[in-house]
Amino acid sequence: MPAKESRVIPDVQTIFWMDAFLYLMLHAAIWYGLARFRSRLVSLWSLSGIFSALGLCVFGSRGFLSDDMVVVLGMLLMTLGNWGRQIALRSLGDAASARWMWAHGLMNLAFVALTYALQFSGASVEVVMLVFYGYFTFNCLEYFVSGQRIGIEHDTIGATSVKAAGGVLTVTLGIKTIALLAGYGATNLYEVSWDQFIVFAGQFVAISMLNVGFMQIFIDQTHRARIQAEQRLAREQERAALFQQHSDDLGALLREREEIIRQLTLSNKSAGMGALVASFAHELNQPLTATMLHAELVQTKLSAAMSQNTQPDLNILKTVADAIVKNTQRSGDIIRKLRNLFRMSKGEYTRIDFERLVMDVADLVSFKLLESEIHLSTEFDDNFRLTGDATQLQQVVLNLMNNAIDAILESQVRHPHLSIRGQVFEDHLELHVQDNGKGIDPERQDDVFSLFKTTKSEGMGVGLWLSKSIIESHGGKLTFTSEPGQGTVFTLRLPTIDYTLLA
Ligand code: ADP
Repeated sequence: MPAKESRVIPDVQTIFWMDAFLYLMLHAAIWYGLARFRSRLVSLWSLSGIFSALGLCVFGSRGFLSDDMVVVLGMLLMTLGNWGRQIALRSLGDAASARWMWAHGLMNLAFVALTYALQFSGASVEVVMLVFYGYFTFNCLEYFVSGQRIGIEHDTIGATSVKAAGGVLTVTLGIKTIALLAGYGATNLYEVSWDQFIVFAGQFVAISMLNVGFMQIFIDQTHRARIQAEQRLAREQERAALFQQHSDDLGALLREREEIIRQLTLSNKSAGMGALVASFAHELNQPLTATMLHAELVQTKLSAAMSQNTQPDLNILKTVADAIVKNTQRSGDIIRKLRNLFRMSKGEYTRIDFERLVMDVADLVSFKLLESEIHLSTEFDDNFRLTGDATQLQQVVLNLMNNAIDAILESQVRHPHLSIRGQVFEDHLELHVQDNGKGIDPERQDDVFSLFKTTKSEGMGVGLWLSKSIIESHGGKLTFTSEPGQGTVFTLRLPTIDYTLLA
């Protein structure tokens, strides 16, 4: 054990131990109080306190440790403690910038290296002390700057405390540095003198204020962040509720719109038969135009014969007259069918010869089929009958056939073919309408039965939606399978139960 040199030395060493104890107490109190936040900043702050406290213990252990050891370990631990605290303060709010960390790290490293160099190159104690106090006077300005910055952006009470601590440290260490420069200061770290007293007093006051400030700012920020998060959550919840409300309203409106269109189309016969009437009008146009042309031909031939006073070509006139009769009969047929249709369309369920109904519709589109050179094949099982609304079912079949013809026309297939097959099962019947047209793209298949979804420039996108609705109101099902580029089969499945017998 080295002998004690004077009565003064152990007293100053005791003050170092007391200082170390204060550091530990304050940092431990903060760690204990803030540990539940599990913040890395709090851990860094506590670790810095331990470094500083250990550094002070080293300073207080002269006699137990060699002077070189005191300088090497003491300076390193004090510098690390200070640096850690400054990083923690800088990072309150936003993380400290990498540039600042590097600059401070290098500065601290330079200081430690210079101190070691002086110590081991045999420089005098005065010089080592001057570098030590001079550096820390400058270094502690950082607390002042941090306090200033935090005060602008965040909490003012904690910021004032940090700023004041930085001021106290800079002033007290500055006084000590000036005293050393002026030759008044105690050059022995362990000597009791007025300038040493000022440094210790500054340390005690500043470290308390720094810890109080850090804790105040940290708690305030955490509290503020929580309030902000809660406000954000409340806003999000409000917005989500509003969205939900909107989408509910929109969904209800859409459902209402669909129902209104469905009701209108199904209940209002004249509107529901629009497509059928349009088809009839088109069909009627063909024989009427032909009749007109033929009549004009007869007129021309007769006028020519009369003006030239010759006999008209009776063979030609006979052929033309035959054609006129044929076309007029066809027009009569079409009009009769239309009348039948209206007669049947009382919106009541009747027993229907479904094969005849399908063939009537096929007849309606026969001109289109002929014109487009589409081969139609039909095949029905016996007793292909059911109970239902004839007009509505006619609309469905017409729509399926028209769609098939459109798909074939769009595909330009070499051997266009439309096949209709009617099958009877125990309690239901099935009608398959198959075409070898362009088919339906897989990504569009989900939309086929949706309202207003069409791929045709003049389409409405109502046909299949309405057809499905009609079939379902008959207790049946309308489905399809389709192979793009190969064709499509729509299958209509309807129960054969005779509702008229039940009534
Ligand atoms: P629209 O005929 O007015 O377009 P639909 O509801 O009848 O309305 O048909 C909806 C869409 O389904 C059509 O635009 C078409 O793209 C597709 N589609 C229906 N039938 C066929 C079919 N047999 N082949 C290929 N596509 C079809």
